[in-house]
Amino acid sequence: MKIFTAKKKLTHYLQKLEKKHLIGFVPTMGALHEGHISLIKESNKECDVTICSIFINPTQFNNSVDLANYPNSLEKDLALLKKRNCDIVYAPKVSDLYKKGEVAKNFSFGNMANLMEGIHRPGHFNGVATIIEKFFKIIKPSKAFFGEKDIQQLQIVKALAKQMKTSIEIINVPTKRDENGLAKSSRNTLLSVSDKKTASFIYSSLLYCRDNKTKGIKTLKEDIIELINSNKNIKLEYIEFVNLETMQRIEDWEEENNNAICIAAYVAGVRLIDNIIL
Ligand code: AMP
Repeated sequence: MKIFTAKKKLTHYLQKLEKKHLIGFVPTMGALHEGHISLIKESNKECDVTICSIFINPTQFNNSVDLANYPNSLEKDLALLKKRNCDIVYAPKVSDLYKKGEVAKNFSFGNMANLMEGIHRPGHFNGVATIIEKFFKIIKPSKAFFGEKDIQQLQIVKALAKQMKTSIEIINVPTKRDENGLAKSSRNTLLSVSDKKTASFIYSSLLYCRDNKTKGIKTLKEDIIELINSNKNIKLEYIEFVNLETMQRIEDWEEENNNAICIAAYVAGVRLIDNIIL
């Protein structure tokens, strides 16, 4: 496995790769878990060369405490990637990707960014798009792999790829979960065993919606708000029922597999997001 910390050396290496190679790209912020590895596996399946980036992107954090607390385990991550047959890792310092004082670019994603993460984390998607655009330009992958766990981000990246007029194919990968349903997340390392049990309530709520779809959106939303608020260890930030493509609020179910229910909630001060596609 090749490891690069400088984009110059990485691009030099990539230029030397045979043109016929399909390059698969998996961007991550590290503290890797089986969710990330499922993206690596998918890339290995679909591409000739898999490149994973490990970079905690400062411009996508609207909260400096969150950024400071973000878990970091580079050595462990590298060992895991090697074991899982990743070919190339790009783990740069901030200065390799951003000029001094550089801030996120202003993108326009229209209504897609006007709900959920877009309003609760102001500037978040500008930061995400800024770094993904940089990566796409440096790496020029054939395919890039993103998790459905961050469903709004996935749709934003698809919109970004369109705006960039690139031929990079954006591939979505289903959410990996613990046995109790809790979506794997780097932030889970900040939770105790009992916090994790509490947090699994988020997925149970999503399953409740799946199993009671005929109740309709208005009733389900009320039920979930009441259910989650009855558990004093979870603080619900939002629950939204949206169209999967547009990320816009819906009042009635759209066609099968075109609906997403998205939740953000705090457990023990840790912000968790999850969703289900119905
Ligand atoms: P992150 O390191 O949190 O920025 O995530 C990097 C990529 O891994 C993103 O495309 C995420 O959507 C994806 N990812 C994170 N958690 C999971 C999960 N539990 N299952 C599948 N993909 C995930």
